[in-house]
Amino acid sequence: MSTGYGRLIWRDGVLMPWEEATVHISSVGHASVSAAFEGVHAYWSSTREMLHGFRLREHMQRLLDSLRMSWMESAFDADALVDATVELLASWQAPGKDLHIRPWGFAAGTHCQQMVPRGTPAEIAIETWEFESKLGQGRTCTLAVTSWPRFHPGASPASMKVFSNYHNGRLGNIDALARGADWPVFLNAAGHITESSGACIALVRRGRLITPPLSDGVLDSITRRTLIQLAREELGLDVETRPVERTELYLADEVFLMGTSAEVLPAVEVDGFPVGDGRTAGEITRAIESRYHDTVRAVTGNHDEWLTPVHLDRAAGTPSSTSLTASSHARSTA
Ligand code: PMP
Repeated sequence: MSTGYGRLIWRDGVLMPWEEATVHISSVGHASVSAAFEGVHAYWSSTREMLHGFRLREHMQRLLDSLRMSWMESAFDADALVDATVELLASWQAPGKDLHIRPWGFAAGTHCQQMVPRGTPAEIAIETWEFESKLGQGRTCTLAVTSWPRFHPGASPASMKVFSNYHNGRLGNIDALARGADWPVFLNAAGHITESSGACIALVRRGRLITPPLSDGVLDSITRRTLIQLAREELGLDVETRPVERTELYLADEVFLMGTSAEVLPAVEVDGFPVGDGRTAGEITRAIESRYHDTVRAVTGNHDEWLTPVHLDRAAGTPSSTSLTASSHARSTA
């Protein structure tokens, strides 16, 4: 087991030791064509001395939506998956640590068949590992518009968070790195900015926050939703969701990436053009990052509805498989 990886994995209703959560090598559904996933964070709050899952339910609903759009069926509903995650997180017994959670679903028991049929049941697994948040640490990045166009939403909808969509992201990542930038920015067929490989993008111009619309081929990011709301309600900013031209990034006062893993990541260069002073995050980006930090770490308590408390003493130990019987968590299909 690698350091920082969870001791347990939740798999279809059972908390099992990490080593035991294996699949057969012939299982093509696993992590390939027919698999959907989520990336979620649980942040430690020093203010409340406890861990909170951030917008857990929304992530679980998006996982179920991705499976539904992929014609796969889950025996678990969003609430059951939230409960399962809380149980798994509680088993960590790691006060002070932030945890990354990867819930995912893949076509169960498919061995030869790439084209899994409609109605195939999805096996659900939830994994966790430690991560270090970079919020408030002055981190920045550089961006390059990649020569790889974003996959057409009519061919593979961006709203589906499925592993197969990430091949395009990987090509863009490699291209951006080869050109000396940290992250790619993808254009769609109309030449509009879409998103990065694992994060959405926003810019600030003349005091307004601007981000591409979902219909341009953008994942319905939960961080994007969060920051739009915080910007409007708590910072009083005007937010525009509208098509964005590539050159608008060159004239922007501020640019940042946003996502569960990216958190709020200020960009200081796009295609070689400096953003702002070319070294540090702009004022509005810093204010947004600070609000996000205070929200996920429950400093202000402004959005408790987004925080699922995890009581670390709830599942002390759990040395071997603990049955959370599928039936007690399964969605009623009646
Ligand atoms: N776009 C893509 C392609 C992503 O993979 C992610 C990460 N899930 C995001 C945007 C950001 O989404 P979220 O804020 O829900 O993590």
